[in-house]
Amino acid sequence: MRDKSGGQPAVIVVGGGPAGLTAAITLASAGLATALVGKRPARPDNRTTALFAGSITALETLGVWPLCAAQAAPLKTMRIVDDTGRLWRAPEVKFAADEIDLDAFGYNIENFHLVAALERRAAALPRLRMVEDQVRRVTPADDAVTVTLGSGERLHARLVVAADGRRSLCREAAGIAVEARDYQQAALTVCLTHSRPHHDTSTEFHTPSGPFTLVPLPGLRSSVVWVLDPAQAENFKDLRDDELAVEIEHASHSILGKITIEPGRGLFPLSVMTAKRFGAQRIALVGEAAHVIPPIGAQGLNLGLRDAASIGELAVAAHRDGRDIGGEDVLAAYETMRRADVTSRTLAIDLLNRTLLTDFLPVQGMRGLGLYMIDRIGPLRRTVMREGVAPAAAEPRLMRGEAL
Ligand SMILES: Cc1cc2nc3c(=O)[nH]c(=O)nc-3n(C[C@H](O)[C@H](O)[C@H](O)COP(=O)(O)OP(=O)(O)OC[C@H]3O[C@@H](n4cnc5c(N)ncnc54)[C@H](O)[C@@H]3O)c2cc1C
Repeated sequence: MRDKSGGQPAVIVVGGGPAGLTAAITLASAGLATALVGKRPARPDNRTTALFAGSITALETLGVWPLCAAQAAPLKTMRIVDDTGRLWRAPEVKFAADEIDLDAFGYNIENFHLVAALERRAAALPRLRMVEDQVRRVTPADDAVTVTLGSGERLHARLVVAADGRRSLCREAAGIAVEARDYQQAALTVCLTHSRPHHDTSTEFHTPSGPFTLVPLPGLRSSVVWVLDPAQAENFKDLRDDELAVEIEHASHSILGKITIEPGRGLFPLSVMTAKRFGAQRIALVGEAAHVIPPIGAQGLNLGLRDAASIGELAVAAHRDGRDIGGEDVLAAYETMRRADVTSRTLAIDLLNRTLLTDFLPVQGMRGLGLYMIDRIGPLRRTVMREGVAPAAAEPRLMRGEAL
């Protein structure tokens, strides 16, 4: 395996999802010979991703954002509406980006537009070789990792970036265990057109089965992530378009007017998973290979992009200093950079989700009180907003707009 410049790859990225593509672009655009191994998904991904300000800055710095910005809608206001119908309900909370001096918290974009932009940028990088294949085996050794492809070909590199998703083969090869739990919930996803404008506002209705979220897309379009009991989600998925439109109009209290369902629906069982280590044996885990969190509060891929930017930054620095890019010190620094961010967000989303599902009155009261305080206390609200879009702890350089 040779990269486009004719040398052996220094890094192999496994998995061509958004986290893997971002990692590969980060590494290759900083001059490291990189091979990305992955196959295009058999089914199109009709989900959308809300990317927060730091992720947008990183994608701009990598030259990706200009390739897809026209397909994204700004998120200027985010509303949380308590629709639990319970005794202790929280007040409606509204977060406005201009309160923390931002034009927008971020942008929402359909995954296929984002991935297409990443692929176009990747194709333009001379140090990046795209290998359209499946990885069959990953064999770590002291000085390099061997990656065996479906074709039988073997690649070797001092560092493997594992972006091969939640059932990561690379993670298994590195001997990294996980903590995982399934929720009795599933997310139904669909895009729609509507008669009333969304005013660049995303609205999260908190219901007893989980959040029902409307996220703006350009024009009179929005995406829906509807967290439901799995059986109900399955039923809704099989409804006719006009029947599903009625259910969505009802759940959204008709705030977007008349709804037309677009083709393509997704159903995602909800779970949480965190790898006990983010790197071992020259293999660094990024994106859902490292952590899976429920689609509440739009955190998953934002975390994944920070993973990609962090391992990129550390590997490039090691390379420039003449150190081993897959060495223990690089993996230890990666663990330090990522652990608090991943843990704090996983706990917060898990806690919020549990307080929605519980019938225990004091817990419902605490949730209501928390949201009441956020609504009423300006500095607290602004802190929550800032922490929601970017971690207070050190952000990787790309998220600050610094090229590597
Ligand atoms: C309903 C829903 C809504 C969401 N909304 C948001 C949101 O608004 N904001 C946000 O930040 N996050 C959101 N997320 C989370 C986000 O979608 C995920 O974090 C993201 O898709 C993970 O990307 P990834 O690249 O890590 O993994 P994946 O997209 O799963 O990519 C993994 C890739 O690895 C490949 N692969 C696997 N095994 C191999 C192998 N052996 N060889 C080669 N390739 C392999 C797969 O084919 C795949 O292409 C949402 C998630 C869901 C379910």
